[in-house]
Amino acid sequence: MRDCVVVGGGVAGVAAALAAADRGWRPLLLERGPVLGGMARSHPDRQLGGELDCGQHVVLACCTEHRALLRRLGTDHLVPLAPRLDVLVVDERGRRARLGESPLAAPLHLGPALVRMPFLGHRDRLAIAGAVLRLRTVRDLDRLDGVDLATWLGAAARGPRRRAFWDLVTIATCNLTTAEVSAAVGAFVLREGFLLRRGAAAIGVPRAGLSRLLEPAAAVLAARGGEVRLGAAADRVLVEDGAVRGVRTAAGEVIPAARVIVAGPPALLARVAPEVAAEPVLAPAQRLDVTPILNLVLRFDRPVLDAPLLAVWDSPLQWLFSRSRLCGEAGDGETVVCSLSAATELADLPGEKVRDRLLPHLQAAQPRSGAASLIGWHVTRERAATASLRPGTAALRLGPATPVTGLALAGSWTATGWPVTMEGAARSGRAAVEHLVATQRWSHARTRGIVCLPTGTRPVTTEIAT
Ligand SMILES: Cc1cc2nc3c(=O)[nH]c(=O)nc-3n(C[C@H](O)[C@H](O)[C@H](O)COP(=O)(O)OP(=O)(O)OC[C@H]3O[C@@H](n4cnc5c(N)ncnc54)[C@H](O)[C@@H]3O)c2cc1C
Repeated sequence: MRDCVVVGGGVAGVAAALAAADRGWRPLLLERGPVLGGMARSHPDRQLGGELDCGQHVVLACCTEHRALLRRLGTDHLVPLAPRLDVLVVDERGRRARLGESPLAAPLHLGPALVRMPFLGHRDRLAIAGAVLRLRTVRDLDRLDGVDLATWLGAAARGPRRRAFWDLVTIATCNLTTAEVSAAVGAFVLREGFLLRRGAAAIGVPRAGLSRLLEPAAAVLAARGGEVRLGAAADRVLVEDGAVRGVRTAAGEVIPAARVIVAGPPALLARVAPEVAAEPVLAPAQRLDVTPILNLVLRFDRPVLDAPLLAVWDSPLQWLFSRSRLCGEAGDGETVVCSLSAATELADLPGEKVRDRLLPHLQAAQPRSGAASLIGWHVTRERAATASLRPGTAALRLGPATPVTGLALAGSWTATGWPVTMEGAARSGRAAVEHLVATQRWSHARTRGIVCLPTGTRPVTTEIAT
């Protein structure tokens, strides 16, 4: 009998397995694919060389749980954090600015950058500064889930220039525009990353393929009696009399287990435990929609970008990364990754159309690319990249609890308080284990004369005199 089986080897599953090992359990992690990472995975780029991520990822300094996970695996040095937020922002008309922190205390630390932004007028800056003060003081963010962020910001997000300002952050962090994202989620990101503390938005860009960040998990878990199995899909979570009994793999092996954590999107739960997913307290999660992310990867014969990482103001290009410079790739050329979030419009276009649509924008924003030869390219596409946290979706994000004893949920879509990111995934993995520990205490307590009343998915305990 296994102490704990984790289904899914993305960030959430790895975090769950490590947290389980910390409890003295010997977890078995089942991953369907050939590598760990899930939505944050990579494989060798046979066409252009180096490693190809399923999509460019970045983290911010405020993503502390993900950072702790990498530290634990000894790979945090592969995602070095910049000392502070300091990003080149260009537009397609040749204007340039630096989105950077000054030594002033938060939220004034971003004030000088705002004042110097050439893309904004004086009245835009005043409106945005007013919204920053509102964002700083707003209480109970959950109450904002009924509206989108643009509506909540009101005049501060009115007009294309102001909208472009907020979109610079919301599209990259929430995978939705300011007009689409729930105000609760958007306001959380802006506060946590940009307004509450200096240094919180310092950017970390992986210097290696994403799967390498999680690779050591197999050895770390093995040292604690655990195991990682790659290419091992779970077919069914086995449930009997309201309690989890184990997992049956796609190869037909039955693995008895005292605890199971399903760590992945709601669709994974529906696949491996359809009856459980259909339970009234869990079924709403299946209504969470998804938003695609595309990456256009371009190999030029010479350097074309003005910085290893830059943002393009009010442009479909959004954010540009030099894989060559960030990952230390050899050769004279430059591999440029155009990271295209909230990419619903591009999702079904053939790769050639995506390339042809974006190349003129790149030439306008980074003119050196116009003089360079394109020697290779491809498009990566994740149609279900993240859950779409539009207004009203807070109720669709579940906690780790399920009505089945010993079965818990993890995944970046769950109710971690964070947007659908690696940070959310890392937090969810730990939360799933903490939930299993708490409910285990709960059933031990029951045998000692403590009455426990499960209400919905959150067990409530009431102690009585014995
Ligand atoms: C292109 C792109 C760019 C992104 N950019 C960022 C970013 O910059 N910063 C950031 O923080 N986040 C970013 N994200 C989001 C982030 O990658 C995800 O939110 C996070 O990695 C999800 O982790 P997870 O473990 O919850 O789920 P997943 O990564 O989906 O993991 C689920 C795992 O379960 C496995 N699986 C499925 N079925 C089975 C089965 N039957 N049996 C066993 N295993 C199974 C899958 O193969 C997968 O490995 C991005 C996502 C994408 C797609």
